[in-house]
Parts: sequence; structure tokens; C-alpha cells
Amino acid sequence: MHPRLLERLHAAVGDAGLVLDDEARAPYETDWLRKFTGRSSVVVRPADTAQTAEVMRICHETHTPVVTQGGNTGMSGGATPDGSGAQVVLSTVRMKAIRSVDPLNNTLTAEAGVLLAHIQAAAQAVDRFFPLSLGSEGSCTIGGNLATNAGGIAVLRYGNARELALGLEVVLPDGRVWHGLRALRKDNTGYDLRDLFIGSEGTLGIITAAVLKLHARPVARATAWVGAASIDALVRLLAQLRAACGERLVAFEMLSAESLELILAHVADSRAPLASAHAFHALIELADTQAQGLAELLEGGLGEALEQSLVDDVAVSVSGAQTQAFWKIREGISQAQMRAGKAVKHDIALPISALAAFVHRADAALREAMPGVRIIDFGHLGDGNLHYNVLMPLDTAPEAMATATARLNRIVHDLVAEAGGSISAEHGVGQLRRDELRHYKSEVEFDLMMRIKQSLDPNQIMNPGKLI
Ligand SMILES: Cc1cc2nc3c(=O)[nH]c(=O)nc-3n(C[C@H](O)[C@H](O)[C@H](O)COP(=O)(O)OP(=O)(O)OC[C@H]3O[C@@H](n4cnc5c(N)ncnc54)[C@H](O)[C@@H]3O)c2cc1C
Repeated sequence: MHPRLLERLHAAVGDAGLVLDDEARAPYETDWLRKFTGRSSVVVRPADTAQTAEVMRICHETHTPVVTQGGNTGMSGGATPDGSGAQVVLSTVRMKAIRSVDPLNNTLTAEAGVLLAHIQAAAQAVDRFFPLSLGSEGSCTIGGNLATNAGGIAVLRYGNARELALGLEVVLPDGRVWHGLRALRKDNTGYDLRDLFIGSEGTLGIITAAVLKLHARPVARATAWVGAASIDALVRLLAQLRAACGERLVAFEMLSAESLELILAHVADSRAPLASAHAFHALIELADTQAQGLAELLEGGLGEALEQSLVDDVAVSVSGAQTQAFWKIREGISQAQMRAGKAVKHDIALPISALAAFVHRADAALREAMPGVRIIDFGHLGDGNLHYNVLMPLDTAPEAMATATARLNRIVHDLVAEAGGSISAEHGVGQLRRDELRHYKSEVEFDLMMRIKQSLDPNQIMNPGKLI
């Protein structure tokens, strides 16, 4: 560590902004899944943009590496320091202000450390809607959501985090501030810097605030659970419902039979939504700003699908409690996987038209490579985003896990690449998929990324070892 680093950081952020004690630093040094653990030299928690800028000026001058951290709920180890003990963790948790809400412009300006759930509530308080919604919304921050370009359950209708941001304020690696908090839907004044920082996972700068897009608040929702014999049938159902319901279709989530079994076995008070067994399940939701006719629309669409034998069973929710129970099942999958084993995770995106063929090929390839393999296949089918995971026994040794991960990654990711898909859809690249990214990016694309990184962060201090 640079000799005067701590003293200078203390002068920048004061007592309240420094965490020095080993025990107090520990939660910042391990990720949510407890898959990655590192060691920080210090945790810095600036109170505002000016303090963040001062911290970065100091780190730039002293060539000190910085790992930005929001809610620390990311699933790719992007916010965890390495084991060197040389990296500063910069936590945004004290930057919690909602700076303004403009219902006429349908925008809200929030600082990076505001929890996603608090942004949703602030939008609701002015009768508007902020649609980004994730299982971690009570703990993740808007800065983290933007830095990973988070997806979640309403991308089908509203897009991912990138599509919900209009402007950003960013502290650059050398401590300068880019004041890009524009609340404009049209701004063609050159290169889109905003889109450069969104999804950059803390490798180019620190997002300190954002202007977010608000939407009209839906007043009605209709939710159903369906069972089908194949993933092909669900893909066709999705196309049919999109045609019939248009923008009212907000969520189309898929679970394989094995994923559902895992949840029912490991999540307390979860009950099977349908009486009979099915190879695939989908949780479907419509929402609208008009109260009338939504349930009828959903029932009509699903009735037709039953007649065509696209689906074999349907349960349309008749109460808020039943809707909650459906969502509890879907959201229980992360917890169930953690309890049941060690997962080799894949967070992949495919053209929806290529998705069923991919699943057939990948299932066959994995079963051939590893007879008896437990494939936990679920995800945001409406966005072409699958979490196509493989569950290994809880007592799998770390070396065996690493070998299996390399082998399974190659099989799955090769098939994804052949189908024109992406090996990283919404959870970020972090450390988990960094080498895979290098393997699959073309030379030209990787070279462009390296040049951008080099020009913005010449001292290579922003989140080293992540993404790139
Ligand atoms: C139960 C559960 C369910 C989830 N479901 C989904 C889901 O459906 N869809 C989905 O997309 N994700 C999901 N996630 C993961 C998701 O990526 C995170 O929850 C969230 O987007 C990350 O926010 P965070 O504040 O926790 O960021 P962190 O984990 O703290 O950081 C994530 C990355 O962003 C960087 N970063 C954080 N803040 C900033 C900043 N202000 N400026 C620059 N870089 C920054 C970090 O360096 C790191 O690389 C889920 C996670 C959990 C635990």
C-alpha cells in the first residue's frame, strides 16, 4: 500500500467513510453466493460525488486499484477484491439520495447507492412506475444495476437497465466528473458515453448518479402458471401471446420440471402450482394501465393454447395471494440451488427462435458427456435468456468443481456461439466469465474494448481482473 494512502483517504471521507477493521470489512470481501472471497486494503464509503472524485484522484495518483461495490448481490464476483490485499473497495452505500422526481418528464434522478426497491417506491409515490425488477431488489443498488446492465423479470416489455436510463453522472478513474445527467429522450450530440459506462462493471468509472425513465403505473395484472410437454411448445405459446396481448405481456418465465422439483424440495411453504407433472412450466403475467379485460385476455389466449394442445394445464391466479405464491416459486430458484448443491452456472442469451433447438442439443451433449447430470434449466424465456445450470453435489471438491466447470462451460458456450447467442446475458462477466469472454469475442471486438479501457483507465486501476 502507498505510504500515505490511508491518511489521504481519511482526509477525503472522514471517519464515517472508512472501514478499517478486519471483521467489519469481511462482508465487503465475499460475494453473495460465497463463491469468491478476497482481501481489501480498506473499504471506503464516500458520502457523495465530490468525495468519490477525491478518492479517485488519490487512487489515480498512487496507482491504487479500486473495486466499486453497490449492494454486493452480483453473481459473477465482479464486486469482490482479489486476494492481494492491495485493492480498495469503494462502496456506494452512503450515496442514497433521490435527487429529484419529475412526473411531467417521467424521470427520476437517483444516486448510485439507492436500493432498487426504494426507486420503485419513489416512482410509485408520484403515481409512476419504475419497471426494473429483480429477485435482489431489496438489496441491490441502481448503480450496480446499471454497471451490470441488469435484466430481471420485465425486460420483455420494458427492456433492461440500459433502456431505462437517460443520463449518468460518472467519476472517471483520474477523479474528473462527467456530468451527463441529461433527462432527454433525444440527444444526438456524438458518441453515446452513457452506453459505454452501462454494463462496464466498474472497469471504466464509477457511476455516481443516473436519470431514470419512469412509465405509466399499471393498475391491473393477470398472472397464470402453465404446464407444457416441451420447450418448443412454450416458445410457440410466447409468440402467440405476444401477438394477442402486445405490450400487456410483461413477463414470461420458464422452469424445467427439475428446477421446479428443486424449489419445492428446498423452499419452505412452496406448493406445486399444478396438480399434474409437466416437463416445462411457465409463469406468465400481463399488466395494463386499464383495469378492464386483462384476465379475460389471458384466459382467452391460454384457452386457445389448451385447445391447440400447446399447453396441457393452466392455473390462472384468482387472488393476490396466489399471484405471490407463483412468484415465490420462481424467485426461490437461487436459494434452492444453493441449498441443493454447487452449480455450474450459465447465463446465456439466444434468439428466441433458436432457443428450443439449443436446449435439445445442449441437453443431449451434457448427458453424453456426464451421464446422470442434473440440468437446472430456467430463466426469462420471453427475453431469450436462460440460466442453464448444472448442479453438482454439495461435497464436490474445489478442484473437481473447476474441472467440471471448464468442461461444461465449453460444451454449453460452444453451442451458444453456434446458435448466434451470448455467453453473458444479465449477471455480468465479472471474474466468473472473464476468460470465457476472451475465448468467444472476436479479435476486432476485443481490441476495441481494450482500446476503450486503455484510453479511459491508463493506470489500469478500475476493477482489475474483471470483465476484460
Ligand atoms: C436473488 C438474486 C436474484 C437476482 N436476479 C437477477 C435478475 O433477475 N436479473 C439480473 O440481471 N440480475 C439478477 N441478480 C444479480 C444482479 O446482477 C444484481 O442483483 C444487481 O444488478 C447488482 O447490483 P449490486 O448493487 O448488488 O452490484 P454489486 O454486486 O455490488 O456490483 C456488481 C458489479 O457492478 C459494479 N458496480 C457496482 N456499483 C457500481 C457503480 N456505482 N459504478 C460502477 N460500477 C459499479 C461492481 O464493481 C461489480 O462489477 C440477482 C441477484 C440475486 C442475489
